[in-house]
Amino acid sequence: MEHQLVDLAALESHELEEALEHLGVAPFHGRQIFAWIHARGVTRFDEMTDISRALRTRLAGAFTIGTPALDDTQTSADGTAKFLLRLDDGRQIASVYIPDTPAQTFCISTQVGCAMGCAFCLTGKMGLVRNLTAGEIAGQARVLAHQTGLAGTAFNIVLMGMGEPLHNYDATMKALRILADPRGLGVHPKRVTLSTVGVLPALERLASEPVMPNLAISLHATTDATRTALVPLNKRYDLVALLDACRRFPVSRRARITFEYVLLAGVNDSIEDARRLVRLLDGIRGKVNLLPLNEAPGIAFKRPDDARVNAFARVLAERGIPVSVRKSRGRDIRAACGQLIVEGGRESAGQVLAARLETTPAVASAAAAPTVAPRPARSAPHRRR
Ligand code: SAH
Ligand code: SF4
Repeated sequence: MEHQLVDLAALESHELEEALEHLGVAPFHGRQIFAWIHARGVTRFDEMTDISRALRTRLAGAFTIGTPALDDTQTSADGTAKFLLRLDDGRQIASVYIPDTPAQTFCISTQVGCAMGCAFCLTGKMGLVRNLTAGEIAGQARVLAHQTGLAGTAFNIVLMGMGEPLHNYDATMKALRILADPRGLGVHPKRVTLSTVGVLPALERLASEPVMPNLAISLHATTDATRTALVPLNKRYDLVALLDACRRFPVSRRARITFEYVLLAGVNDSIEDARRLVRLLDGIRGKVNLLPLNEAPGIAFKRPDDARVNAFARVLAERGIPVSVRKSRGRDIRAACGQLIVEGGRESAGQVLAARLETTPAVASAAAAPTVAPRPARSAPHRRR
């Protein structure tokens, strides 16, 4: 009968209070329970020691605390840790902790697989298996925060694992609201980066949200022909439409839109591409993050050599565009966000490698890195800039 229990970990705090009200339980217990689940990482009602035993028994009869189960953890020599998580239906997803980049960062997934089919991406090869629920998206950050001991400190989240977050809009935004709640992990949206290939209607919707994460656009090409070959969604929403939407996007005063650009040898890495990229970004408060391809079996592209990457970066930097090159992390444990493929509930032999999350300044004008401001106490309200 367990499947009929309401999952409290998938609810925003006001929803949790409403769920309790249906049981005739006072709303202040909702606030307590939300903090137990999210801030303290408790997964069983009987651990909630400031709630009476009788109420805990009632809660356990009506509710559950859905939590991705930890199947395996692998830690790389460079400290990057890959967590293999099992969902209620037995599907597996991988979430990654990347330390000191310079912030502590969790890379989490929004879907099992992805429908977008980008030509260089292993997750795309899986197709879309299913959307993750808000509870499963927020649950990844919750499990990682408590496993790493970082709950109660300031950390970043990047939605760069499996899946296209704007193709699972409602669950993703709800997860961000759960994560932002100061009674829980209190991850301010400014510490979250949402990476998208540009699902335009959803991007427009995002632009009108009251609380918004940072935006990263997976651009990857400077002509429609090349972009359509790499990112099939470009057929629907082309470069002009995407960049116009970026121009209209409300970017806060000191922020910039990140443009991710996977560099593929001989495909999109020429000096002419770099110059076109400068022209395309005219009038947008942007910065460019170059991602030299993580090669993988089944991916028909090559990574350009460092000289070529640097030459590309130099063109951007000389024209005043902040640019960085993503350095691979965790190669020895095959921990790659956006590079994950899972087959039949197990990682496939072809699952790749190298997390791409460490951002190193390529040339002069790299974007300033955020500083980590540790919070004084676990239960204290978050004090973030
Ligand atoms: N679906 C979203 C977020 C997940 S992918 C998106 O595409 O933006 C996160 C990033 O990883 C994207 O910029 C994606 O282009 C990049 N990526 C995917 N495969 C890659 C590979 N083989 N090498 C380097 N970066 C890759
Ligand atoms: Fe999906 Fe992003 Fe991979 Fe494209 S790059 S297939 S959008 S996960």
